[in-house]
Amino acid sequence: MARQADSDVIAAIATASGQAGIGVVRVSGKNLGPIATQLIGAIPAPRLAKRARFRGADGEPIDDGVVLFFPGPASYTGEDVLELQGHGGPVVLQMVLRRCLELGARLAEPGEFSRRAFLNDKIDLAQAEAVADLIEAATETAARCALRSLRGEFSKVIGNLAKQLVELRMLVEATLDFPEEEIDAVDQENIRAGLQRIGEALARALQGAQQGSVLRSGLQVVLAGQPNVGKSSLLNRLAGEDLAIVTEIPGTTRDAVRQAIQVNGVPMNIVDTAGLREATDPVEAIGVARAWTVIERTEVVLLVVDARAGVTTADQQILARIPDKKKRVTVFNKIDLSGDAPRVVESEEGWHVYLSAKSDEGIEGLRRVLLVLAGWRPGGEDIFIARERHLIALERAGEALGHAEALVGQSDLFAEELRLAQRELSAITGEFTADDLLGEIFSRFCVGK
Ligand code: GDP
Repeated sequence: MARQADSDVIAAIATASGQAGIGVVRVSGKNLGPIATQLIGAIPAPRLAKRARFRGADGEPIDDGVVLFFPGPASYTGEDVLELQGHGGPVVLQMVLRRCLELGARLAEPGEFSRRAFLNDKIDLAQAEAVADLIEAATETAARCALRSLRGEFSKVIGNLAKQLVELRMLVEATLDFPEEEIDAVDQENIRAGLQRIGEALARALQGAQQGSVLRSGLQVVLAGQPNVGKSSLLNRLAGEDLAIVTEIPGTTRDAVRQAIQVNGVPMNIVDTAGLREATDPVEAIGVARAWTVIERTEVVLLVVDARAGVTTADQQILARIPDKKKRVTVFNKIDLSGDAPRVVESEEGWHVYLSAKSDEGIEGLRRVLLVLAGWRPGGEDIFIARERHLIALERAGEALGHAEALVGQSDLFAEELRLAQRELSAITGEFTADDLLGEIFSRFCVGK
């Protein structure tokens, strides 16, 4: 389908569906004067909350609410934006939205408000992505990191790296015009030092982004074990008081066999194989089929056994169904009854953790193991919420720098590698981005975002 025009007036319900105290219809376009006048009588004063009656075609009130008007360019999208805060019921909000459509707006596509913010230079691409990541954040740590990216801290780091690359390029490219002049030894030394500085900063940015990527996608864990070995008790212990917050994403339903927890701020999705065995009715069977698909993508198998009985034949049968390549953690629970000491052992067939879900002994060891498996290094560098495409770009930029290092004497080839590195970095912030990539990024947003 062809993309709709970026010049249209767009409208969408910006709040979640369902009933709530307040619901918001958001409208954005180059000139909202005519719509505002017909809908609420006049264009409101900028950035002041104003009580208003939203009126239908025949002048009948549809709702009584509050409007906020942000004239462009000082608005989220950079265009005129009207926020209509009405009563948060699906019917009334649909009526308000329909009225906006009657008055010439069209329904916004998913992410289209943020797309316009990007196209109008209000935010760069990494910031736009952070908008979605903030809304989807499953833990407080993830939300905080997404907010930092949204405020432009990740972009600033990327921008600084790009700036240093440009400076280095200028130094080298100046010599390209005078090929007969060799770059002297002092300059070569400076160039090498500059390259090293940029390489180090890039490596730090990549580490921070890798951590952010862990926060964004979390760790997928399959939980196996016989009834009564203490799986639920263990999950409750691991999760602590703050359960990860999981919202239903359209098109997926939360099924009984999946649970979200967090360990030190890192989201973890637990698929419970006990639920898999017990599935009998058709609806549950769908959940079970889905869970097995999830297991395919799961990185870690957590087998809980009673420390007094060890790994039983029944456990072996479950394990046999789970692909070999998964990392394994066997938890020997109930050490308060078996008398084992709490400990963590790394062996050929994975990690062994001895603990008691009841007394809390040894739980910290399991947390550490899970965080290691998630690739999480606590503390350290600045963390930015990041996506696969950011990591790939940073890695490629790093590779180009690596090539450049071997080419210091050959100015033209060297400059070309720096140019490649710079192009990768600018793809992160979206300076040069193909339209289909933009389409792919924004189509994953919700409508109204
Ligand atoms: P699940 O069926 O595997 O989810 O097991 P539960 O978490 O429901 O635990 C089964 C029983 O074992 C409950 O009575 C728990 O209180 C008990 N239990 C769980 N973990 C421990 C433990 O570490 N020590 C002791 N003594 N009891 C435990």
